[in-house]
Amino acid sequence: MSLKVGVIGTGMIGQDHIRRLTKVLSGVEVVAVSDIDEARAAEVAPAGAQVFASDKDLIRCDAVEAIVICSWGAAHEEQLLECLAVGKPVFREKPMVTSEAAALKVIEAEVTFDRRLVQVGFMRRFEADYRRLKAVIDGATLGAPLMYHSVHRNASVPEGLYTSEMPLNDTLVHDADIARWLLSDEITGVEVRLPRRSQQGGELRDPHFVLLHMASGALVDVEISVSITYDYDILGEVSCEAGIAALPHRPATVVTDGHGIRQAIPEDWRERFIEAYDQEFREWIAAAGEGTATGPSAWDGYAATLTADAALRAAASGGLERIKMVEKPALHGAPSALAAE
Ligand code: NAP
Repeated sequence: MSLKVGVIGTGMIGQDHIRRLTKVLSGVEVVAVSDIDEARAAEVAPAGAQVFASDKDLIRCDAVEAIVICSWGAAHEEQLLECLAVGKPVFREKPMVTSEAAALKVIEAEVTFDRRLVQVGFMRRFEADYRRLKAVIDGATLGAPLMYHSVHRNASVPEGLYTSEMPLNDTLVHDADIARWLLSDEITGVEVRLPRRSQQGGELRDPHFVLLHMASGALVDVEISVSITYDYDILGEVSCEAGIAALPHRPATVVTDGHGIRQAIPEDWRERFIEAYDQEFREWIAAAGEGTATGPSAWDGYAATLTADAALRAAASGGLERIKMVEKPALHGAPSALAAE
């Protein structure tokens, strides 16, 4: 039997996930869509899907068993709380919410329901290369991880939509989450350094250099460039006590011609992480079918929101901004259980 899903937010990633849920994956059916722009929702709705003007009505519709939220940040809090109020599993694109207070409300609502229902869209955790990298670190043959170097480069970002705050409050969350997951650690402080400004960024402040201080004492540096012009490039390398473990470069056809010998780099995040998004949804569908959620949790969404907030403070202060988390609810696993998730 197929899981009956409603999708809220039918913009760029909403449409990509609808394609994935209708054309790529099995055991799932998109039965409802809604968007603040109802005409767009109607345009992209799969055949037979109901189009809702109100996200609340979609969430409460009896035919909808689980929800995928792809709207913009500010709308997430209410939509998530509504899903939790009716006890339906929900996949929420990152960022989970945009404030610490909202993240705590989501955690509290899920703890009150007493079952995991929320999965946050940190798709890197589902990619085979990242999973192999984590297995090496967890295997401890290289000793303890000391540093993680993360590189997050975009050729360009949508002009006008992407603001100078977004590298820190929208893009960094992926690197922060994968660092916590790979190192089985929590972020306790954030510093931000601003290198010489790239002329390619126009009005945008670009690039950013971020230093994450981990509870274990490990350090994570993150380069975020959003106007690098040459495609979408994601790199990661963990320095351990007795060796280095790194993500491989993506295999691609080797082209030899008058410009030299070269391999293509993915054009954008949709191409780079296509298998990761598919696997993320495969696992979400399996868990949602059981009425629950696995994968990145509301706790992980909370950690990412705190990191983004601290990064924005650090960019303004120029110093180290500390992060203080509330006690982790048992529902989200013991602190040491991060490795096993
Ligand atoms: P987008 O193209 O602007 O799409 C967002 C859509 O949600 C728009 O159609 C927007 O309508 C609609 N919307 C806004 N508020 C709504 C509400 N209250 N109820 C229903 N619909 C609402 O943006 P996007 O690039 O798809 O990004 C959406 C989310 O996914 C963001 O949180 C983003 O950070 C995340 N994302 C994640 C990844 C990833 O790698 N995991 C990649 C890309 C995006 P209007 O256009 O009329 O405002």
